[in-house]
Amino acid sequence: MTFRPPLRLRLDGEALVSNYQWLAAQSGNAECGAAVKADGYGLGAREVVKRLSSVGCRQLFVAHWGEAEAIADLVPRAQIAVLNGFDADDSASALSLGALPVLNTPQQIARWKAAGGGRCHVMLDSGINRLGLGPEQIGQELFNGLEIDILLSHLASADEDVAQNGEQLAQFLAMASCIDVTRRSMANSAGIMLGSEYHFDLTRPGLSLYGGVARPEMAGTIRQVVSLQALVLQLRMLPAGSKVGYNALYTCDGPTRVATLSIGYADGYRRGFSNSGSVVFEGLRLPVIGRVSMDLLLVDASAAPSLSEGNWVNVDYDLPTAAKQSGLPQYELLTGLGQRAERIWI
Ligand SMILES: *Cc1c(COP(=O)(O)O)cnc(C)c1O
Repeated sequence: MTFRPPLRLRLDGEALVSNYQWLAAQSGNAECGAAVKADGYGLGAREVVKRLSSVGCRQLFVAHWGEAEAIADLVPRAQIAVLNGFDADDSASALSLGALPVLNTPQQIARWKAAGGGRCHVMLDSGINRLGLGPEQIGQELFNGLEIDILLSHLASADEDVAQNGEQLAQFLAMASCIDVTRRSMANSAGIMLGSEYHFDLTRPGLSLYGGVARPEMAGTIRQVVSLQALVLQLRMLPAGSKVGYNALYTCDGPTRVATLSIGYADGYRRGFSNSGSVVFEGLRLPVIGRVSMDLLLVDASAAPSLSEGNWVNVDYDLPTAAKQSGLPQYELLTGLGQRAERIWI
């Protein structure tokens, strides 16, 4: 590229691999796959898949066929599962791509059989009531002639200690008992921590691969993968009483050295960080002041007299902390990351 963006996403490949290996170990005897949908939760699916494949991760989950296509040259195609199923319009290209659909409805199953699709996966809805076959929809004849590799179900509240987890487990076991499959899979990142009865043959973490702390038991072990660095575009000394940013959400108490940084909500640094986020320069923490703009961010740099135009600062983006600062879920902090930043894998 001719111009280097004034914003960088630093992606720690070692931390990604370490998180995968820890989640795989926590999965006990079950194989550990990976959810790489939404472009690898915003990091870049291709780079994520290369790194996870190199340490033995085989089963991958995406949401769309286009996402499967985007990684199809990197892994054996049958290792890619497409969670959102199999649309009539997808038929021809889906079959020729060779990734396997997760069939979610009787119609999808009928369509797959009619297309002579062969091996596939099936999603059972054990209580999230979102996507998959409900208990009232299953019967032996539905599955006749289907060659099912993975039978999946998805937990609604694995990040909480609630009765719904056990209820979903019981429902999945009851529904699965009459279906002939190769592998069963229920646990997402948080589900892995619920114990071995949730592991079955295959786990499928997403969030925690990328640094998300899905449950408190993961704190201190799951490593931060994504960090952000923004360029300082301007520095000014403002007198006490100056109003800062859109709608003057911040007023300077005293004389304040304000730095303007090249990151904004269009980059995924969302408006929830207004007056609450922070950045670090040479170990000094500088608070975000005022409202986050589309392309710009203001911080109080009074504590860092050596900061100058053209310096890079680290934007605090440890996911549990950033979620508290912004009031946004860790999932959205990752998947919202914009495309303008330069992605640098270290
Ligand atoms: C996104 C997704 C996952 C991964 O969930 P995390 O909470 O990110 O670990 C697993 N299974 C299904 C069906 C999903 O949609």
